[in-house]
Amino acid sequence: MRRVVVVTTGGTIASRWQGNGYAADAAGQDVLATAALPEGVEARVVDLFTVNSPRLTTGHQLVLLHTVHEILQDPAVDGIVVTHGTDTLEESAFLLDLHHGDRRPVVFTGAQRPLEAADGDAAGNLYDALLTAAHVQDLGTLAVFAGRVHAARGTVKTQTVAADAFADPSNAAVGKIGFGRVEVLRRPVRSEPLALPAAAAEVPRVDMVMHHTDADPMLFDAAVQAGAQGIVLVATGAGNATPEFTEAVDRAVARGVLVALTTRVPAGPITPIYTGGGAVDLIAAGAVPTGTLRAGQARIAVLSALLSAKDPAERTAVLQRIADPSTSDVPVVEAG
Ligand code: ASP
Repeated sequence: MRRVVVVTTGGTIASRWQGNGYAADAAGQDVLATAALPEGVEARVVDLFTVNSPRLTTGHQLVLLHTVHEILQDPAVDGIVVTHGTDTLEESAFLLDLHHGDRRPVVFTGAQRPLEAADGDAAGNLYDALLTAAHVQDLGTLAVFAGRVHAARGTVKTQTVAADAFADPSNAAVGKIGFGRVEVLRRPVRSEPLALPAAAAEVPRVDMVMHHTDADPMLFDAAVQAGAQGIVLVATGAGNATPEFTEAVDRAVARGVLVALTTRVPAGPITPIYTGGGAVDLIAAGAVPTGTLRAGQARIAVLSALLSAKDPAERTAVLQRIADPSTSDVPVVEAG
């Protein structure tokens, strides 16, 4: 028997009609009961939260991270499934991936349609996630949705309501699932796992500010004033803003704020091509380009860097390593 632990956190996959809209209210056992268990797989539930994911806090995410690490202390466990709201799934999955050094997988899944919907996608997604958690290794944290396996890194929610809700706009999926088999197509690129942050770690404030035509850095400066230790600048194009933003980045970095540079564009890497407030200048002012990580995951990268080091130069180095990882050498295991 392969043993999988299912950690439930809420989301649409646990949601029922409340009279005026849906909200998470189902117990973990009810969520698991929607899916058939793949042959040879045994599952037990850890009922952690019943929250729709836009309401999750860093505090929740750190509890989830520690819970997963505690479960993996048991060598009899073969893999973990986390059921999660889809809205911020990419953030929690990436946080867990950055701190995951175990060969066994952590597989996130959820649903676009609520728990008891007759045409729901919960049962299929959960079945696929259980199958994946039971059989793959050395792939880190994954997201399984609509018959595809995605690496945590780079994967974003690309559809508000359609069932095939996740993709990495800059990369192919890691695998696919069908006919009771998981097929691994590529090895995810992962950074060196970071140590687990202390359970009682003080949570730093990390804000996001988006550039647009006619923007000034007022909100960026306000974030610094509000005590942000990290800021994600969501720039335009390949990572461009204005000379005024460049000055604001320079001021923030001088105060020890960790600034990450990402873009509003769905796919492609941040690339320093333009001056006059472009990525060339923003990076020279101290912003760290985050490759193909989009805003939510760039924010998680900043959070993990802040939790990993105290010194601003060290924090910058950790963020650079997260943003520019080297390919893992661990061999891919195909199974199903
Ligand atoms: N639409 C979301 C979901 O799929 C709501 C949430 O993220 O909790 O679960």
